[in-house]
Amino acid sequence: MNKGISSVLVAGGAGFIGSHLSRYLLEDLECEKVIVVDNLVTGNKENLEELLNSPKLDFVQDDIVSLDVARFDSYKISHVFNLASIASPKTYAEKSIETLKTGSLGVFNLLEIAKKNDARFIHASTSEIYGDPTVHPQTESYFGNVNSVGPRSMYDEAKRFGEAAITAFCDKFDMSYALVRIFNTYGPKMGQNDGRVIPNFVNAALRNLNLEIYGDGKQTRSLCYVSDLVNGLTKLMDSTYCGPINMGNPYELTVKELAEKIIESLKSSSDIVYLEALIDDPKQRCPDISLAKKVLDWAPKVDFETGLSNTAEYFKSMV
Ligand code: NAD
Ligand code: UDP
Repeated sequence: MNKGISSVLVAGGAGFIGSHLSRYLLEDLECEKVIVVDNLVTGNKENLEELLNSPKLDFVQDDIVSLDVARFDSYKISHVFNLASIASPKTYAEKSIETLKTGSLGVFNLLEIAKKNDARFIHASTSEIYGDPTVHPQTESYFGNVNSVGPRSMYDEAKRFGEAAITAFCDKFDMSYALVRIFNTYGPKMGQNDGRVIPNFVNAALRNLNLEIYGDGKQTRSLCYVSDLVNGLTKLMDSTYCGPINMGNPYELTVKELAEKIIESLKSSSDIVYLEALIDDPKQRCPDISLAKKVLDWAPKVDFETGLSNTAEYFKSMV
């Protein structure tokens, strides 16, 4: 049906990052066709609202774990982006088997589609590859410190398996691929009840409710605004770089500093309360992005105040 039209497949395209990427591909890069495949486990169609009526978007509601790969034979696919995976620690712990199958069986199904089309495969990996890191900031050459049976293991090990599977498959069939180790990314269209720190803190601050810190708040995260990440992902499309690559913003804060900043910026009267620490919660996380700077000439541009303000506006519109 669409053979001849060059298409980009975005698995997980109805989620937070995937919906921003799909919009950018269609509207800014003017791609001829974007095929979104999503089972809506954490994403939703409203994230794609402004695109759903476009003849250039095909939305396929399906699970990549049980995907009929022949279903995509009519397309000529140039790139496969795999963003399909539950990403919130709260939700992947609740849906542990789904997370493991998505990161293994699901990845192989998408690799088969890429192979049939000789498409470049770009996979959303994660800073969780490094676990609770003993090297700081984290470089791609660091092997990580991961508990294979802990409360985060279903996600961490699925992502580590995904990296190994893609590397082996693409090496064997001489395919082009990149493993993007994404560090904490935030922005509009994150799920309001997603459980991750930015939606939790911003929504609590907007309602003047307590911001709940797990542990003493001395653990650090480095926060990247979503448009910067999407810019990096699309730069990767055109490059021939193969292998793992960090993407994130080295702007590092303790979780306590983050809570204080959000309360102050949003002029909230919320208090901070301290709850029990989460098991295996990484104590520090900051990307070394020298490689992305070198091979893609990429670095994040949006400062935290701007990103936070855009994100708060989005959540305000939902209150
Ligand atoms: P998200 O939950 O908003 O998006 C994930 C999307 O994948 C959702 O739309 C969900 O419905 C879909 N999905 C999940 N399992 C699926 C399956 N089996 N079949 C089809 N669709 C499926 O999360 P996000 O923050 O947008 O994350 C996107 C990707 O980036 C994920 O792979 C995540 O692991 C990775 N990542 C995100 C961050 C971050 O800070 N946001 C950090 C590191 C890695
Ligand atoms: N966190 C917190 N309160 C919350 C949500 C998260 O203190 O309501 C902490 C969490 O313990 C972690 C950091 O914020 O140290 C980031 O958590 P998130 O779930 O966003 O993602 P992670 O980086 O752990 O995958």
